[in-house]
Amino acid sequence: MQAVGIIGAGQMGAGIAQVSAQAGYDVFLADVDVARAQAGKDGIVKQLKRLVEKEKLTADAADAAIARIMPVGDYSSMRAAGLIIEAATEREEIKRVIFAKAAEVLAPDAVLATNTSSISITRLAQASSDPSRFVGIHFFNPVPLMGLVEVIHGLATSEQTVKVASDFATKVGKQSVIVKDSPCFVVNRILVPMLNEAFFALGEGVGSVKDIDMGLKLGAGHPMGPLTLADMIGLDTLLEVLRVLQNDFGDPKYRPAPILVKYVEAGWYGRKTGRGFYDYSGAEPVPTI
Ligand code: NAD
Repeated sequence: MQAVGIIGAGQMGAGIAQVSAQAGYDVFLADVDVARAQAGKDGIVKQLKRLVEKEKLTADAADAAIARIMPVGDYSSMRAAGLIIEAATEREEIKRVIFAKAAEVLAPDAVLATNTSSISITRLAQASSDPSRFVGIHFFNPVPLMGLVEVIHGLATSEQTVKVASDFATKVGKQSVIVKDSPCFVVNRILVPMLNEAFFALGEGVGSVKDIDMGLKLGAGHPMGPLTLADMIGLDTLLEVLRVLQNDFGDPKYRPAPILVKYVEAGWYGRKTGRGFYDYSGAEPVPTI
C-alpha cells in the first residue's frame, strides 16, 4: 500500500496525515472543503518545522513528508488509496454521509476505517459499501506523540481487514491492541468516565481547576491533570462520547456533567477554540474557575 486517504483534517486527521507522510505514504487529505484541508496541512507544516528546529527531524525528511501530503477538495484521488481513514467530527450522521461518498471511490481491495472514539463499528459498517472491509483505527491525541492505536473489529470485519489496520499502525510507528466492538472500546471506556467525574467535582465546587489538575498529577501520578487533558481532547468531542456511552449502555452513570454541557453550549470547546476550563489567549493557559 502506497497511498492513504484521510477525511477530516482537524487535530486527529492532521496528526494521522503527519505520521502517515513521515512513514512514507502519499496522503490525500480532505475536509469539508479544500481550504479546510489546506489549513490542516498548514498546521502539519508548522509541527514538522518545529521538529526540525528542535533537531528531532532533518529538514530533508520534513520537506519529503510535506511534499507527500495533498489537500484535496473531493475524494476522487482516493481511488488510489489502499486505506481511507475517516477522522471527522464525532457525529454519527456526519460519518454516515462521508462513508456513502467514500464508497464511490473505495478501490475493490481497499479498506475503509474510522477514527471514532466511541461509536459502534458494527453499526457504522452498515453505512459502508462492504462491512467486511470496514474497521476502527483509533489513534490517540496528539497522534505524533502517543504510542497506541486501538484496532476495533466490528462483527463483520474480516481478518484480512484487521491485518491491514494493524500493519498500518505498525508502519506509522504505533503499537496496536486489537479490541472488540463495544462503546468507547477500552481506553476511553475507562478514561472518559474519569474525566466526567472531574467535571462533576469542578461543577460542585469540590475543587478549583488548578486543584483538581494538581490533585491527579501529584496524587495519582498522571502526566497532566484531567481538565488540561479534556481541553486538549475537545469538550465537544467528550460530550458526544459521553452521550454514546450513556445511550449505548443505557446506564445513567455515564450522564454528562452539567458543566460540560454548558461549556459546549457556550462554544468553549477547549484548546481548539481558545477557551475551555483554561483560557488560552495569553502565553500560558490560565484556569478559569
Ligand atoms: P476536530 O474538531 O479537531 O476536527 C474535526 C474535523 O472534521 C474538522 O476539521 C471538520 O471541519 C471536519 N469535518 C466535519 N464534517 C466533515 C465532513 N462532512 N467531511 C469532512 N470533514 C468534516 O476533531 P478531532 O479531535 O480531530 O476528532 C475527529 C475524530 O477523531 C472524532 O471522531 C473523534 O472522536 C476522534 N478522536 C478524537 C480524539 C481527541 O483526543 N480529540 C482522539 C481519538 C479520536
